[in-house]
Order: sequence, then structure tokens, then C-alpha cells
Amino acid sequence: MSGASVKVAVRVRPFNSREMGKDSKCIIQMQGKTTTILNPKAPKEPAKTFSFDYSYWSHTTPEDTSFASQNLVYNDIGKEMLAHAFEGYNVCIFAYGQTGSGKSYTMMGRQEEGQEGIIPMVCALELIILFCVCCPHSIIPVRLTSIILETRFPLIGVKPSDDNNQDHELSINITKVIKQQPYVRPDRTVAATNMNETSSRSHAVFTIVFTQKKHDSETDLSTEKVSKISLVDLAGSERADSTGATGTRLKEGANINKSLTTLGKVISALAESKKKKKTDFIPYRDSVLTWLLRENLGGNSRTAMVAALSPADINYDETLSTLRYADRAK
Ligand code: ADP
Repeated sequence: MSGASVKVAVRVRPFNSREMGKDSKCIIQMQGKTTTILNPKAPKEPAKTFSFDYSYWSHTTPEDTSFASQNLVYNDIGKEMLAHAFEGYNVCIFAYGQTGSGKSYTMMGRQEEGQEGIIPMVCALELIILFCVCCPHSIIPVRLTSIILETRFPLIGVKPSDDNNQDHELSINITKVIKQQPYVRPDRTVAATNMNETSSRSHAVFTIVFTQKKHDSETDLSTEKVSKISLVDLAGSERADSTGATGTRLKEGANINKSLTTLGKVISALAESKKKKKTDFIPYRDSVLTWLLRENLGGNSRTAMVAALSPADINYDETLSTLRYADRAK
């Protein structure tokens, strides 16, 4: 991957109890990088085919090689983005999809062994590196510690190493962890809607400002690389008027849709600029979300998106719209 292009993954989750109760059929197929979706309302219509960097399947046992574990997703996406952060790029990983499609599972995961998502894995890896590489003056911020503790990361057994580069003194200092929310309210709110699931009504953005300092003892020169890592669990992408919400909730839903549309436009404009090798106008200012993420999307940055999909026929319209959104991000 080069320039400002986006690495795009799609991930289909297992059926939930509601879908099983309705005897839903699986309309998604995945083969290598190809994902197809069948229209249950027009079975004779040819399946729509998309191609993404990664397609993650989960309709099989965890022992099967086609099963996409949390580890696999982290190894493909989290590790690559962390490597870019080490190179000094700003990075952004975000999960997109309708409520209940598996965004939080991908980003946060569950507090069980092997079920941790990208956010705790990235935080833990950075912390482990912090312990392993020499970092005597680092201050581990309380917030980060609490994220790690909350997600019960297996830090036990991690031993500091004195395996330093002979010429350079490398110190990695995680200076800040912020849980920011573009919509001003005390907590991420979750409200029940017709989707018959709990619906996330705001975006959750975790930002780590990551500073690497190198000191060359021969020349006595110091260099510093600063990168910002943003890990974003977006609000549900379902259309505001399809949720049965009214009043404030409907307005809130419309705002969410606008910010997601703007995010899509920003990413497409960045991809276009890259193809044409000239910078077009990028509409960062059109939503709080894109304004907040501007340094992590354009310019000196690397972005990855995971589009989360329901497998069920009853969610065809939303799933197709998620696939189209992911397709435009490429
Ligand atoms: P969202 O954040 O998109 O609203 P969640 O991540 O909360 O959706 O997922 C809804 C439910 O489905 C949760 O119970 C979650 O644990 C489960 N789930 C989602 N994706 C997967 C997956 N790939 N494997 C197993 N369970 C999943």
C-alpha cells in the first residue's frame, strides 16, 4: 500500500439469535479476496461481486482454516498499521457497518481469552514494546493503564529487555490516550430502536499519540518521530428513518448518517487525488468526525477500514449498502 489509499477488509459475523429465530438464510459468500452478495428478493438476479484486500469469514468452526479469528484480523490489519506508526505515519483503523454487524467485536472484542479486538491488542503491543525496548523515562498514562486493565491484557510474563541498538538509544513514549467523542455528551449512548438490537448512537474514537525518540551517541543528535494512531468504532450506519427513531433520536441518527457520508466522501476524494496525483479539495470540514480524523486520513497517513456484515437475508439492503461504501473507499 502506498500514498493515502485505504486498505479495506470485510468481515461477516455468525448469525445472531434473532436471525436464527427468523430462520434467515446466508446471502454472503467469500472466496479469497472476493465477496458476493445474493439478493433474496430476486434470487435469479446474478450475485453482486466485490473485491477487497481481506475477506473474513466466520461460518465455520474456529478450527477451520477459513475461520477469521480476532488474531487473524489483528495480524493482517493491526500489525501492519502499527508498523506504519513505527515508520512515523499517522494511522487510522475504523469499523463501519449497521448496528449489530460486528464493529465493536472487531475493534474492542470481548473480555475472554482470544476474543480481544484490535484496540486492546494495539494498546497491549505498544505497552509490551514499551517494556521490551529501553524506555526508562516513560510515563504510562493512567488512561492507557485503565484500558489495559479493563481489557485484562496478559502482561504478566513480559520481561524488560536490555537488547538495545548499540548506536541508538530508542525510547518509545506513549504520551496521550484520549477517548474522544465528536458528539458532545458524557458517555457513548446506546439507545434501543426498531433494529431490535441496541443501536450505537455515536462514534467512539480512541487516539494514541505515539512518540519515538532516537539519540545517536556518536553525533549526539536526537531525532523524534511522532505519529497519531486513531482507532474508531463508528456509529451504526443504518439509515436514520429505518430505525423507527423520532424527535431527538431521529435528528441524532441523521447527523450520524451525514458524518458517515462525509467520511466516505473524504476517503473517496483522497483516493481520487492519489490516482490523479494532484490534491483535490477534501471536505474535512463537513463533519466533526472527519475534522477530528483529518490528520489520520490524508497526507502522511495510512488508513484501514473493516466493513462489518450481517450474513442474513433480512439485512440485505443495509449489507449491500455497507459493501458499496467499502468499495468506494478503495
Ligand atoms: P456493532 O458494534 O456493529 O453494533 P457488535 O460488535 O456489538 O456489533 O456485534 C453484535 C454481536 O455479535 C455481539 O454479541 C458480538 O459479540 C457478536 N459478534 C460480532 N461479530 C462477531 C464475530 N466475528 N464472531 C463472533 N461473534 C461476533
